[in-house]
Amino acid sequence: TEEKSLHFIEQIIEDSLASGFPQDKLRFRFPPEPNGYLHIGHAKSICLNFGLGLKYNAPVNLRFDDTNPAKEEQEYVDAIKEDLKWLGFNWTEELYSSDYFQQLYDWAVAMIKNGKAYIDSQSSEDMAIQKGTPTQPGVDGPNRNRSVEDNLTLFEGMKSGNFPEGSHVLRAKIDMKSTNMLMRDPLMYRILHRHHHRTGNDWNIYPMYDYAHGESDYIEQISHSICTLEFVMHRELYNWFLDQIYDDLKVRPHQYEFARLNLNYTVMSKRKLLQLVQENIVNGWDDPRMPTISGLRRRGFTAASIRKFCDIIGVAKRENVIDVSLLEFCLREDLNKTAPRVMAVLDPIKLIITNYPEDKEEWLEAENNQEDESAGFRKVPFSRELYIEREDFLEEAPAKFFRLSLGREVRLKNAYIIKGESVVKDVAGNITEIHVTYDEDSRSGSGSEASQRKVAGTLHWVSIQHALETEVRLYDRLFIDEAPDNHKEKNFLEFMNSSSLQIVKGFVEPSLSDVKADEKFQFQRLGYFNVDKDSSEGKIVFNKTVGLKDAWEE
Ligand code: ATP
Ligand code: MG
Ligand code: MG
Repeated sequence: TEEKSLHFIEQIIEDSLASGFPQDKLRFRFPPEPNGYLHIGHAKSICLNFGLGLKYNAPVNLRFDDTNPAKEEQEYVDAIKEDLKWLGFNWTEELYSSDYFQQLYDWAVAMIKNGKAYIDSQSSEDMAIQKGTPTQPGVDGPNRNRSVEDNLTLFEGMKSGNFPEGSHVLRAKIDMKSTNMLMRDPLMYRILHRHHHRTGNDWNIYPMYDYAHGESDYIEQISHSICTLEFVMHRELYNWFLDQIYDDLKVRPHQYEFARLNLNYTVMSKRKLLQLVQENIVNGWDDPRMPTISGLRRRGFTAASIRKFCDIIGVAKRENVIDVSLLEFCLREDLNKTAPRVMAVLDPIKLIITNYPEDKEEWLEAENNQEDESAGFRKVPFSRELYIEREDFLEEAPAKFFRLSLGREVRLKNAYIIKGESVVKDVAGNITEIHVTYDEDSRSGSGSEASQRKVAGTLHWVSIQHALETEVRLYDRLFIDEAPDNHKEKNFLEFMNSSSLQIVKGFVEPSLSDVKADEKFQFQRLGYFNVDKDSSEGKIVFNKTVGLKDAWEE
């Protein structure tokens, strides 16, 4: 294994280990909110946290941050677990912030008793005005000095469901003049008369993220709580809440921030991805055009390629935008090693070998993957009538056209050298058949002199009578703009690519008759393709995963 330099979080951990922090107290967590499916941005955080767990042999919890019942669902919990497993990571414990609701409530009551929290009953507008601005300090509101008894009674009433939503909130009593706006008496609890996917109707109040998150880290004894840079200003509050409960015999969690992943030509906010799903702009969270893990999987991405991508982009503190082509590069590198090669024709034109016997068929040997000797060989059927790609033929071609034209020779992959002789056209002048002759002595691998002859190019093909008809879904990027959600005046939906999905009929060699969903192939000269879950007995559906960088040379 190659030596890699440490990223800044590993460096922080190395430093604390060096100064005496016990390695067996290292503990990490990945804390998704179950309000949507995981996306490629989450993969960065997953690879980081689980990567640290592997490197330091430390536990990594999967904590569902389920404190907002308005947006969370069991479907998302299940999908998140499936995606994590598929990515190749095992969590130590499966935990839920909602499991801590009673503990969080008890701590909040203690804070009220210590004069560190109070009930505010003003409108959110009034509270916002009192909060001030970044350049102007806030002012204390009229409820700030409520008695402990009144606060306890009101908080109890909130919990019991005696008050309507929006009528009261619990606020931490910190400092309305703090230079950090988040420290100006932040909300700890709000009233929500909502059904929670785990706690049902037990609760009428739910804790806010800033309160719940650090305290949950403390309960789980997380040593390094890693989040994205937007939370830098929250760190002071994270620490303040910990100060209220911290017992110095225990591990005190610390928050560290790293740069989130931004990819061009996509959106990654779950709210926006949800909108694409709900408005049927895509066909579900796992639509192969989505940047979700399930979408990428269905498109044909491998888990290894996503992990490799996260490894290459690294972990740093500076925000940047990664080109989506880097993700595709990682995928191609992996598929090039692992995907069997097959022949498929997606825009067919009929080719007739006039000197090949009508009733003859041959099963020719074809190498499955020249990058992987163990992949072996298969047989592909050859006959007088074939399909080739329409764009692989020109009646009259320029000298640099390394494909078929009249009077010139090319090789048919794994088969023979053919020469263009004539064409048949319909009344409109479109070519309907290409007539060629073949050189019987030129079969690939036969070792004959004719088989070694240099020709301009090599074409893929399928035998018409043997080929399987399939549906092939060709994808383009979902957005035509590099940063669709970065426009002040325009909504991201204005930048949808109207031709991001094209469905064509394709013909593949018969070796593919028994493929299963998620099997991956290289269609030679065309790209990588993944068997879609929509495939059924007698109808194979392929998703184009990604194109090839370079066509092969035989
Ligand atoms: P969204 O804005 O899409 O709703 P989120 O951050 O609210 O994302 P969570 O489910 O709370 O979504 O995220 C779980 C973890 O994944 C968090 O620790 C978060 O920092 C991390 N994460 C989310 N998006 C990214 C990203 N683009 N790059 C790196 N980490 C991310
Ligand atoms: Mg979040
Ligand atoms: Mg969010």
